[in-house]
Amino acid sequence: MFNSLSDRLTATFKNLRGKGRLTEADVDATVREIRRALLDADVAVPVVREFTGRIRERALGAEVSAALNPSQQIVKIVNEELQEILGGETRRIRLAKTGPTIIMLAGLQGAGKTTLAGKLAKWLKAQGHSPVLVAADLQRPNAVTQLQIVGERAGVPVFAPHPGTTSDLDVPTGDPVAVARAGVDEARQKLHDVVIVDTAGRLGVDAEMMDQARRIRQAIIPNEVLFVIDSMIGQDAVNTAVAFDEGVNFTGVVLSKLDGDARGGAALSVASVTGKPVMFASTGEGLDDFELFHPDRMASRILDMGDVLTLIEQAEKNWDKDEAARMAKKFADQEDFTLDDFLAQMQQIRNMGSMKKMLMMMPGAQNIRQQLEQFDEREIDRVEAIVRSMTPHERLAPKIINGSRRARIARGSGVHVSEVNGLLERFAQAQKMMKKLAQGGGMPGMPGMPG
Ligand code: GDP
Repeated sequence: MFNSLSDRLTATFKNLRGKGRLTEADVDATVREIRRALLDADVAVPVVREFTGRIRERALGAEVSAALNPSQQIVKIVNEELQEILGGETRRIRLAKTGPTIIMLAGLQGAGKTTLAGKLAKWLKAQGHSPVLVAADLQRPNAVTQLQIVGERAGVPVFAPHPGTTSDLDVPTGDPVAVARAGVDEARQKLHDVVIVDTAGRLGVDAEMMDQARRIRQAIIPNEVLFVIDSMIGQDAVNTAVAFDEGVNFTGVVLSKLDGDARGGAALSVASVTGKPVMFASTGEGLDDFELFHPDRMASRILDMGDVLTLIEQAEKNWDKDEAARMAKKFADQEDFTLDDFLAQMQQIRNMGSMKKMLMMMPGAQNIRQQLEQFDEREIDRVEAIVRSMTPHERLAPKIINGSRRARIARGSGVHVSEVNGLLERFAQAQKMMKKLAQGGGMPGMPGMPG
């Protein structure tokens, strides 16, 4: 996510580090570097101009010259201004006061609308809403089927003008405006509190598509119109966004495919050029690869200051509290830490989502990005396979696992014996540490630490 931009900006600030006072020449050189980094990342020219203008003005002003650490002060300014071009405050979905909240999705074909519909529905459902999807994309032959698949995965009903769906809307199948209206009516009758309407996109902006989207908007009067944009489309992003803004007057932006390693900067310009906030980020093909967009946190991530808040939220969301309580009790009772516990811990970690994505939110993650990219998520699968190839008795008493048992376990789990050895070694260390923690009431190897 914005990796190359992030590298360039952090490298620029590194050059400033250690400087006591900043001359005008220092500031100019820094601003020039920032400008280049932004342009290379495809940020739109007018946005770059305004952004760097504000940075320069503030960097030469009193807040920097009076600062104890001028270079840190500049990072702070860039962080604040970056947050500003990303839309300022976090903007949440405006829920309808009465009746269902209607959310319409618009964007080019392939932008990620249908996928987003599923992500949004799943996310809203987890918050206690009862969303429903409406398939008003009748352009693409399999768009309706695709939405149905997504709906099934998200566990929400799909209203579509086709037989065999949750609800067969009784409207002409070729009229997306009628379908959208009927879908919203049906949702209202069935007391769903959120309706997400997927609309058709074209490969490029065209008048007919825009007119259709506009007519759907007029027919259903949505609370939010979300414009979904593929972050990888480069400089075209701004023109596309402006066309959609004129066409359907969207209320918020969703940046999709932010997981790609494209330069992504064009997407950064969209909020600034249209004056509409970025509300969500889509970061993968899975339904959970989705987050509420926080301009402040995203700015920190770009400047490699980490996004610890999102990290904590992700961990909390997926942490199995019962399992954690079970471990804590075991620990307090000084019971033996077994291979089953080891496996359970691994699974807890995996439930938190992609390790790689999580680790990338740590401050300074850009420095170890290469190592992180080599991190193999499948390592946890291998551990699981190995432990599952052991008998219950072996899991409780790993000491009995001799050479021939190791060979059998390796065969059973499809790994090399050295991997079984490695796992048993790591487990032995973890067990030792657990024991010390339980007995000593403090950190191992640190006697005298208050417990
Ligand atoms: P639509 O035409 O706007 O409805 O776009 P789709 O939802 O069908 O998405 C087009 C393609 O992009 C599909 O192959 C999706 O799996 C993929 N896609 C959607 N969102 C993301 C994302 O955030 N990251 C990645 N890597 N792929 C995505």
